[in-house]
Amino acid sequence: MHQMVLGILVTLLIMLGFSLRAEGEKKQGEALPSNPARSSVPPSSAGKTAEISLPALAPAAKEEIEKRLKKLAAAPAPDPKTLLSGAKCYDTGPPNMTDMADFICEKCKTKSLIAKCHVETIEKTRRGVDIIRKKGLDISIDETGFCPVCTEGGNSLSAAGNAAKNEVVLIISYNGAQAARNVMSYMDLKILEAFMDDKDRYADNQEWEHPLKDSVKRLEQLLGVPLEKK
Ligand SMILES: [Zn+2]
Repeated sequence: MHQMVLGILVTLLIMLGFSLRAEGEKKQGEALPSNPARSSVPPSSAGKTAEISLPALAPAAKEEIEKRLKKLAAAPAPDPKTLLSGAKCYDTGPPNMTDMADFICEKCKTKSLIAKCHVETIEKTRRGVDIIRKKGLDISIDETGFCPVCTEGGNSLSAAGNAAKNEVVLIISYNGAQAARNVMSYMDLKILEAFMDDKDRYADNQEWEHPLKDSVKRLEQLLGVPLEKK
């Protein structure tokens, strides 16, 4: 009984530590640094994990990616009984849209005030993209969807190659040539990371695991590697 109480206390302290760290990462009114994914400046220490410090792999060729995707499509799905079914997540409530933060557009260099929750999304996405790049995929993002100048007149992905308002566009290239541009969600980073790690599953935001095989269609689209119909 004593041990159980101690265990709960330790868990709570760890959780507190995590939430304090998360708070520290998003200081209010802090200007968003330029996209680390597009510059030679090393990523900030915020959100640094052991994985990030691993040496980066060279970007893969399209053929390698296609081979890997075919392997995944042909592989049997993992036994559903072995998929983890989720840790309890705590509700942080709706984002506070009146809370604003600085955003500097990579494309037109305009500094603007945007909702802080969007800045947090961009930072989280940049970190996720950085992790995947180091696994050997030439991946970058177009953040212009958050720039009031670039989205003026309702530019959309289909119309001008820009992101639609408040959307991030994921770009995959091979040998320096763009192969795919897709409006993305954070879940896309989860499946791409699992794919580059050669896993048969990925975990969603609630830590529920899903067979990666179920995402082959989305991977084909994101990676710009359509597999031939059999
Ligand atoms: Zn802009």
